[in-house]
Amino acid sequence: MSEFDAYLFQKLEEVEQAGLRRSLRVLESAQGAEVKIDGRSLLNFSSNDYLGLANHPALAKAAGEALATFGTGAGASRLICGTSRLHEDLESAIARFKKTEAALSFSTGYAAAVGAIPAIVSSEDVVILDKLCHASLVDGARLSGATIRVFPHNNLEKLRSHLEWARREHPQGRVLVVVESVYSMDGDLAPLADIVSLKEHHGAWLMVDEAHGVGVLGAKGQGLVDLLGLTDRVEIQMGTLGKALGSAGAYLCGSAILRDYLINRSRSFIYSTAPPPYVAAAAQAAVELLETETGQGLVTRLRDNIHRFAEEAGCESPTAIFPIVIGDEREAMAAAGALLEAGFLVPAIRYPTVSRGSARLRIVVTATHSAEQISFLAKTLRELD
Ligand code: PMP
Repeated sequence: MSEFDAYLFQKLEEVEQAGLRRSLRVLESAQGAEVKIDGRSLLNFSSNDYLGLANHPALAKAAGEALATFGTGAGASRLICGTSRLHEDLESAIARFKKTEAALSFSTGYAAAVGAIPAIVSSEDVVILDKLCHASLVDGARLSGATIRVFPHNNLEKLRSHLEWARREHPQGRVLVVVESVYSMDGDLAPLADIVSLKEHHGAWLMVDEAHGVGVLGAKGQGLVDLLGLTDRVEIQMGTLGKALGSAGAYLCGSAILRDYLINRSRSFIYSTAPPPYVAAAAQAAVELLETETGQGLVTRLRDNIHRFAEEAGCESPTAIFPIVIGDEREAMAAAGALLEAGFLVPAIRYPTVSRGSARLRIVVTATHSAEQISFLAKTLRELD
């Protein structure tokens, strides 16, 4: 073993000792309620494909047609020669769906977050984040060089005191508050209306990541910001295209000026090859599907499944994400292992994705699950308890 590999091996051993070693699991099937791993069929309660669009014929058709016409690659960054008609069409569809003036798409949610925050704020400014914000938002805040303040999850009093502190200590600086609408590992909602009032009172700006809200909340799945009628009061909305929208990538949406500004200042947009046009076509088909009765039927079905699981398993969630917090990392792994034995794919989520000692099972209910599959999981959880 080379000295380099020996060093990495030693580091991995430390991860192993802490019960935090990760490895990849290979799926031999498409996303869906049932997946195949090692030749075994498992009931999949782990995917963010909330509406089952990742394997939907409307998206596959749109992607296939785009593939035949536009090929496999975008060839360059959007500003060089990578902007396809399909990227522009997707962005118009997103802006219409989200009721904003404009949208700009990115290759991933991670790229959108690290592209947005450093474009908007810098070292003279302050970013205030919820403690449970996704790693991409945290990394975006760090990359910006702004002073960072973190408030305990959904704690409005602490948010208020950070806003007051920022105004006092950085009177010339801009203040950006960053939250998610739905928290990815807890499935709970941000008190968005209160957060909007607070940031307005203190003259701050707000960025809301709707990665787990779009497709799940609101009549057509437009997310929490729209559901609460706050669209015109949120400066930047972010969402992903690889979860409920069944494709890949992400978007930032808001004013037309915001879009133009990001095209000029967002480094992950400027210096990265555009997503393949067929990926944009699939995402556009997903947005358009949600605007039809068929799409709304899927959102309703998802909601029915969420209620069914909540009732049968005796737990509650306002979204499709049901965390069962176990605490100890190894115990969480053992619980996921027992579920795997019983035929369920339910991941154990551990540090650093969640804080130490709060390891959990993360159960995700989707529109593709049947009533029987949901009952079977609820029954198995009761038996394993
Ligand atoms: N924000 C949140 C809240 C997320 O859960 C994720 C993905 N897990 C991202 C951003 C990043 O999105 P992507 O997977 O498209 O990079």
